[in-house]
Amino acid sequence: MRELSKRTAGFTDSVIRRMTRISNQFGAINLSQGFPDFEPPKEITDRLVQVAAEGPHQYAVTWGAQNFREALAKKQEHFSGMQIDPNSEIVITCGSTEAMMAVMLSVTNPGDKVIIFSPFYENYVADTILSGAQPIYVPLNPPSFAFDADVLEDAFKQNAKALILCNPSNPCGKVFSKEELKIIADLAIKYDTYVITDEVYEHIIYEPYKHTYLATLPGMRERTIECSSLSKTYSITGWRLGYVIAPPEVIDRVKKVHDFLTVGAAAPLMETAIVGLKFGDEYYKQLQEHYTHMKKLFITGLTDLNLTFTEPQGAYYVLVDISEFGYKSDLKFCEDLASKVGVGAVPGSSFFNEDVNHLIRFHFAKKDETLYKALDNLSEIRNKLK
Ligand code: GLN
Repeated sequence: MRELSKRTAGFTDSVIRRMTRISNQFGAINLSQGFPDFEPPKEITDRLVQVAAEGPHQYAVTWGAQNFREALAKKQEHFSGMQIDPNSEIVITCGSTEAMMAVMLSVTNPGDKVIIFSPFYENYVADTILSGAQPIYVPLNPPSFAFDADVLEDAFKQNAKALILCNPSNPCGKVFSKEELKIIADLAIKYDTYVITDEVYEHIIYEPYKHTYLATLPGMRERTIECSSLSKTYSITGWRLGYVIAPPEVIDRVKKVHDFLTVGAAAPLMETAIVGLKFGDEYYKQLQEHYTHMKKLFITGLTDLNLTFTEPQGAYYVLVDISEFGYKSDLKFCEDLASKVGVGAVPGSSFFNEDVNHLIRFHFAKKDETLYKALDNLSEIRNKLK
């Protein structure tokens, strides 16, 4: 048989999603792939029942139903203070996963360079390779996950076409400060580089940190391509409702790529999720309080178990140091953790370009009872894995 594509020859599956399968196989409490086990807001599920009866059930406009884009533009205007035209500056996609891929295909040519902070969410590297582009990695240095501005500028100097910014960051929980964003913005302007943002955790932020939309910085609106989704904000990760907000010239391209990739997001789910987009400030405050509660519960438990971990400023992940267990492979550690201790985690090596084998990632978007059970299982970690 003829050779299959070179582009995908070196590909592995997503380790994040693989760890979910492994967790399920061993009946482990799955704290690997980040998704909640609690219900979405009742207003949304009630509306889903109505929409099931009333429709729509056929295709929406390929770049997203008009009423959905209008509601999204309003909601994002409210939080970012930017004016957003729902017709020329938004595309609705099948999750931010598609958003990011459609953007990468719209922005890069094969051979172009793309700056990626390490640690990163694993899709960025896959998207870069699928687009034929090449990653340039810039480390976020633990424990603060600060970057060195000179190292970043060296990356820009290599004629980078774009930088991918995940803020708040998966997996390290960093919320980039205004000063840090200003450094990134100044370099992007100086070197005429696009910034593709992944802001899916925009509403999951812990006091006293605040989310700043990069596009709101002076000179950045025209070069920021924002990808985000409703998955985390409304606890509907399976609905695959994502979006891109960008200047009209960029959106024009993204619309076409999106049209041929997927045609469009699910029409009944867009119609339903509009109720979420119309929630008032109280919803977002409660979301933040709920996540603050889950974070506290989980990290208090990890502290009681004497485990060393990063405390997130935003998003819902912690990186736990597993050096004391003496494993050479963090993947093997996670397999043993799922099969012997009964908790699913993601090996840190999936997120780092550097040779990092001593970290694993847990997420805590779970019911209290699930987190208590996971902590209970983890209390045996030293007996079972040492
Ligand atoms: N963002 C989630 C994570 O990092 C998962 C997203 C996905 O699997 N699509 O675990």
